[in-house]
Amino acid sequence: MGKLQTEIKYITGIGPKRAEILNKDIEVFTIKDLLYYFPYKYIDRTKFYSIAEVNADLPYIQIKGKITKFNTIGEGAKKRLTALFTDGTGFIELVWFKGIKWVMLQYKPDIEYIVYGKPTQFGHILNIAHPEIDEVSKAEQVTATALQPQYNTSERMKSNFLTSRTIHKLIASCLKFTINEIEETFPEYLMKTCKLIPLKEALTQIHFPTSTELLTKAEFRLKFEELFTLQLSLLRQKKYRQQVHQGYIFSNVGHYVNTFYKHCLPFELTNAQKRVIKEIRQDLGSGKQMNRLLQGDVGSGKTLVALMISLIALDNNLQVCIMAPTEILAAQHFKSISRMIDGLDINIRLLTGSTRKKERTIIQQGLTDGSLQILVGTHALIEDNVQFKKLGLAIIDEQHRFGVAQRAKLRNKSAQPPHVLVMTATPIPRTLTMTAYGDLDVSVIDELPPGRKPIYTKHIGINHRMDMYRLVAREIQSGRQVYIVYPLIKESENLDYKALEKGYEQMVKIFPAPQYSISAIHGKMSNEDKESIMKAFKEGKINILMATTVIEVGVDVPNASVMIIESAERFGLSQLHQLRGRVGRGADKSYCFLCTSFKLSTDARKRLEIMESTNNGFTIAEADWKLRGPGNIEGTEQSGMPFSLHIANLGKDQQILQYARDLAQKIIDDDPHLQKSENVKLNILVSKTKKEQYNWELVG
Ligand code: ADP
Ligand code: MG
Repeated sequence: MGKLQTEIKYITGIGPKRAEILNKDIEVFTIKDLLYYFPYKYIDRTKFYSIAEVNADLPYIQIKGKITKFNTIGEGAKKRLTALFTDGTGFIELVWFKGIKWVMLQYKPDIEYIVYGKPTQFGHILNIAHPEIDEVSKAEQVTATALQPQYNTSERMKSNFLTSRTIHKLIASCLKFTINEIEETFPEYLMKTCKLIPLKEALTQIHFPTSTELLTKAEFRLKFEELFTLQLSLLRQKKYRQQVHQGYIFSNVGHYVNTFYKHCLPFELTNAQKRVIKEIRQDLGSGKQMNRLLQGDVGSGKTLVALMISLIALDNNLQVCIMAPTEILAAQHFKSISRMIDGLDINIRLLTGSTRKKERTIIQQGLTDGSLQILVGTHALIEDNVQFKKLGLAIIDEQHRFGVAQRAKLRNKSAQPPHVLVMTATPIPRTLTMTAYGDLDVSVIDELPPGRKPIYTKHIGINHRMDMYRLVAREIQSGRQVYIVYPLIKESENLDYKALEKGYEQMVKIFPAPQYSISAIHGKMSNEDKESIMKAFKEGKINILMATTVIEVGVDVPNASVMIIESAERFGLSQLHQLRGRVGRGADKSYCFLCTSFKLSTDARKRLEIMESTNNGFTIAEADWKLRGPGNIEGTEQSGMPFSLHIANLGKDQQILQYARDLAQKIIDDDPHLQKSENVKLNILVSKTKKEQYNWELVG
């Protein structure tokens, strides 16, 4: 272990106490970690604004001028210091809420300063709170590099003098100390094909850029390395699995498939459904174990595809399990599938957390002796005590909730691993497909069953509610039904319930009994009560169904034509799209109203605009991904992605990702185990990641 592995507590200027803060707050333990702690942005220190051109919409800016006077306002905790600052073109106020004494000692009127910060509008005057200030005469060394890097720091880091500037200085000395030990991680031929600058140079430029051009090259090099390494391990893993895991061969297409096709299939399959079934059947006949992702928009008919494949498994005397993310959805799948295969004499059962012990025993018996053919359920399916005799196919209806680890658990459910088909509830962005699901093959249903009309979608502010209710009345008069959905507030089930209750009282006034029938359904009800309401709604006995998001996924009532979403600003885009997908299943025109009452954030407004502008789930998924911007941490966690990225951004770096994936695929096809001499370095790169980050043991 060389200098790069030195713990940071031994670095002059850090010491044990600050080292611990860096360990905890930004996960930096060694010099190497510190060198890989990249700036989140750069300030262009060559650009100065005149105060006259400054406005509150600008990001961080730099101005040059003098303080004319100081002023302290307020008392105690509310005390603040302001300084009037001018450059001759106008005035701006600098504001401090803390460290007032120090500031007054530090800065004097009539000296020329460079001020850096984010302008905001406060009443009729612009101000910058807690600006960064340099004296012009002493600023030379700071401005020597035009592009000054900024590092994220926590509050605790700041109060221990670990500011962005300190980090920068520490990195400078660490880089100097270790520069000769930084070894190139890529083989020569890749450096050439991809036009990469050497790692040493990239690490230097990313922290101390000498030009925008070189900085761009450094960013590209480091992003590429991150994404390429990830793709290389995913694809190697995939290849490895294909080689060691033999798959059941589904050679028969017999009684079940034929009878279903002839007698039970309620409609013609869409071309996309046919194509996808064909793709899957190719896998099932290949002798390799299938790991496939099935994507399709809400309502594109994924369930039917899943069922047809399941019947092939049954024709080959193998068992099938179908796993859903919630009890309601599992129950719904169980019912709709049971109905579709009615008359085929298939043994199918439901297993969830609330399945009684007696039923469990029966299920386990059936699984072990092989008489139970299809098991539908929730997470309960992957518990260790559930064992199959011959599990041939595992289908996961996913909704972003199962991770790589769970997929692995399923694979281990029977002696020979089953084929695995993952279905996403809504489309996911291409970049996420390539990463979180990068070890899977992908099939896409890109066509909706015929006759679906786009759902008319409108954002309703406080003013247009009456128009909306008039439309609701009209729809009900013509025999259609209506959903009203309230957001589920995780932290407070009670608040949730209150909003729903209040809404219910209002609705009953607008749509009084006996002319109208309204019901509310929520999380506090017993399962039986919920079921009986859902049943009544399905049978058309209820006109308006009000609910918290319990009906979020999967509910299928083609007669419903209006979806009203309350506090729509609280929902994410894919949720809104899911909810909207509950209507528009019958032949008539359908409506979705996105109601909001408060002032909206820019992002919320954009989400609603996107919903109004398109019905296409794939477009929405991409837009969502872009809106979430840098970091995307939430998105990646939700999707069960087993790694984090330091510099690449899945939203912005799609092209680099695609490039990296294509290249990684070529290399793996040519040298699956990375054993060729020119790939020695790549082998090291991937093995390191394997141990350090992705924990492939789980993935098996
Ligand atoms: P999702 O892909 O969202 O899971 P579903 O499988 O629930 O969609 O299907 C949505 C609706 O479309 C169901 O009512 C289903 O019966 C119907 N459907 C599926 N395939 C077809 C088809 N080929 N033609 C007509 N209707 C179909
Ligand atoms: Mg579905």
